[in-house]
Amino acid sequence: MGMDLTLLLHAITPSWTSVAMLLLYFTYLAIAGSILPGRIVPGATLSDGTRLQYRCNGLLLLVLLVFLLGIVGWIDLVSPTAIADRGLELLSTTLIFSVLVTNLLYMVGCRSRDQSSSLKSHITGNLIHDWWFGIQLNPQFMGLDLKFYFVRAGMMGWLLINLSILAKCIQENNLSQSMILYQLFCVLYILDYFFYEEYMTSTWDIIAERLGFMLVFGDIVWIPFTFSIQGWWLLRNKVELTTAAVIANCLVFFMGYLVFRGANKQKHVFKKNPKALIWGMPPKVIGGKLLVSGYWGIARHSNYLGDLLVALSFSLPCGISSPVPYFYPTYLFILLIWRERRDEARCAQKYKDIWAEYKKTVPWRILPYVY
Ligand code: NDP
Repeated sequence: MGMDLTLLLHAITPSWTSVAMLLLYFTYLAIAGSILPGRIVPGATLSDGTRLQYRCNGLLLLVLLVFLLGIVGWIDLVSPTAIADRGLELLSTTLIFSVLVTNLLYMVGCRSRDQSSSLKSHITGNLIHDWWFGIQLNPQFMGLDLKFYFVRAGMMGWLLINLSILAKCIQENNLSQSMILYQLFCVLYILDYFFYEEYMTSTWDIIAERLGFMLVFGDIVWIPFTFSIQGWWLLRNKVELTTAAVIANCLVFFMGYLVFRGANKQKHVFKKNPKALIWGMPPKVIGGKLLVSGYWGIARHSNYLGDLLVALSFSLPCGISSPVPYFYPTYLFILLIWRERRDEARCAQKYKDIWAEYKKTVPWRILPYVY
């Protein structure tokens, strides 16, 4: 027992190698993110009428990064299993980094006299609250929108962890059907995320949440390290899947993906052009502002249902022998139920009567005919 604890402490203690890996990663994202070409997308209109500009070059950044890592792995400069070998160490290093970044954001936020909507300081005076939820809406660093930057780092980090786990699996001659399914679903989801990166500019996190520990930690620690739990678990556990289970698993993924992507796309397209066709027909709209066609006419926040099915499909390859690989869908379920309530409250306040009418027309939330 004493020995186990010593080993664990050793594995979790940050080393200079993990610090260097993390710094290189964040530096790459900052430099490549600001110089590589990408579509410039205007964000939501802020309360003072201004709009931030987002450079959506995430897909290019990711492909280039994986290519560069492939080369350094090929010439034996860096081992492809470097991340998988240092999982816990990288986790603690990233955690410390997220605390340091939040402290910095807190201090800069407190001192800022900027009155623009994106940088205005929101100080309640409750230190824990302000540190946790953040002080400024859209803090910038070297021309980069930090919220956009951190979520990008988290999503890419998740893929890098997965790829390193895959390399370790291959190295140990341990590649299973389950691992292939898990990897395949995740890579499709992550590539899709970057393909549609501009949709992020209209999500709750970007438009409504200030940048504090909750988001920084959520983006750079929680996303990459907990969404990959299934991969870590499959490294050490064997699962036999029947053909029927594989087919059912693929169906859950593709159905979930269709709803998730379809719903988010419909809303995004609608906000840009309220007359654009939805499923080949002119959209039904309430009060000129709320979409009642397509997925949004079946249930409010049906995009959350799609995301939940996709999350479930990431865990199903692990079978049902352990609850550990179900951590991600369970967490997402709790988060999205909570978020849906917060968003309902926000929309009820923002849209008033027309939101009440939308609720009457579309009574279901997330899961049609059930909730
Ligand atoms: P949404 O993209 O669902 O955005 C909610 C906003 O959309 C509302 O505040 C309102 O904003 C607008 N809206 C709601 N209903 C309508 C309607 N019928 N017509 C027009 N506009 C409407 O929220 P999120 O940012 O929470 O989620 C985005 C995606 O990210 C989801 O697919 C979610 O599943 C996913 N996600 C994933 C997480 C993960 O950990 N994997 C965590 C959180 C989210 P407005 O004021 O602009 O009208």
